[in-house]
Amino acid sequence: MNILVINCGSSSAKFQLFDIDTGKVLAKGNAERIGIGNSKLTYKPDGGEAVVIEQDMPDHKVAVKMILDALVNAEYGVIASVDEITAVGHRVLHAGKYYSESVIVNDDVKRVIRECFPLGPLHNPANLIGIEACESVLPAGTPQVAVFDTAFHQTMPPKAFMYALPYEYYEKYDIRRYGFHGTSHRYVSKRTAEFLGKDPKDLKIITCHLGNGSSFAAVDGGKCVDTSMGLTPLAGICMGTRTGDIDPAIVPFIMQKEGLTPEEMDTLLNKKSGVMGISGVSSDFRDLAKAAGEGNERAQLALDMFAYQGKKIIGSFAAAMGGVDVIVFTAGIGENTDTMRAAMTDDLEFLGVKVDPELNMGLRGKEAVISTADSKVTVCVIPTNEELAIAQETEALVR
Ligand code: AMP
Repeated sequence: MNILVINCGSSSAKFQLFDIDTGKVLAKGNAERIGIGNSKLTYKPDGGEAVVIEQDMPDHKVAVKMILDALVNAEYGVIASVDEITAVGHRVLHAGKYYSESVIVNDDVKRVIRECFPLGPLHNPANLIGIEACESVLPAGTPQVAVFDTAFHQTMPPKAFMYALPYEYYEKYDIRRYGFHGTSHRYVSKRTAEFLGKDPKDLKIITCHLGNGSSFAAVDGGKCVDTSMGLTPLAGICMGTRTGDIDPAIVPFIMQKEGLTPEEMDTLLNKKSGVMGISGVSSDFRDLAKAAGEGNERAQLALDMFAYQGKKIIGSFAAAMGGVDVIVFTAGIGENTDTMRAAMTDDLEFLGVKVDPELNMGLRGKEAVISTADSKVTVCVIPTNEELAIAQETEALVR
């Protein structure tokens, strides 16, 4: 069974075609600059050379059509006809309070995605455009599945998801913690239990998704009970360019001092802050490590802040669950950076966490346990694969 996974941004459409029975990626790529000129499609068949097609893509419908044409192309295509695509799984940012699982798209699902535009103004409109583009271009009746970034976190209890604002704002605007990277937290926590040969029901797991955007989830018995991101992906630990949690009073303070509009303040918090804002060097942790190694104190401070804030979240989630059995690292930084894994778990022996420096050192992108044999808490690395997770959830729904 072939499943096409699509992740639409406002001017882009990333895709992967999976043969789900083998888990193999048949082809993948990215349509860029949709609707803004100089558009191009980069397409890479498994085992073949990447093909770049520069052609105008005025909208997502044209982009999806070009992706399908590439997949069936006589020279570099990987399937004979689009009929061989059984279903399409779409990454969708926000399902608000409505869905805690992935769903087959119908008019009601589209209405929910639309209703959540105010909660995900950059992503949800693009995600819906991607769904509608596929509907109009693929053979009638091809199922479309929406896989939501927020869904996994819907099991949080009210004491974890409510903000202490006047209650009317929850009622009027649905302001509450939603959490993101849910597909990754679900996949990684499930995979961790499998990898350790345990039943997820018996485990208290803290998943640490550390990438350009970073978030943590407390997963008790397979269910998310708390997460670090909030109403938006700005909350939690400081990130590449996002502040993470700060004293909310700082926002009106800076706006008044600098005469900033709400939009300008939003840009400052989301695009100019985080480890980039602190270091002045880069949002990329490889650049930060290099600069810190060369004596750049602000780069070192940014790395120290990231590790310290992450450690505080791990400690608070252990407290929230009344203990922790497994801490798992994933995503670009979590999978590849031994120094950050070591720093974030340093001095946690009081919690029963002991990382083995030798098992940790140099480990990149591989499933592995990195804690010592006598560590009460198992610490491991499990690479995330959000696209495969979307394909698997899509398959489960259409089978
Ligand atoms: P992601 O958002 O999951 O793609 O993660 C992006 C972050 O992961 C960037 O800050 C990168 O610096 C970091 N990263 C990715 N690959 C590596 C690597 N091989 N070594 C160290 N850091 C990496």
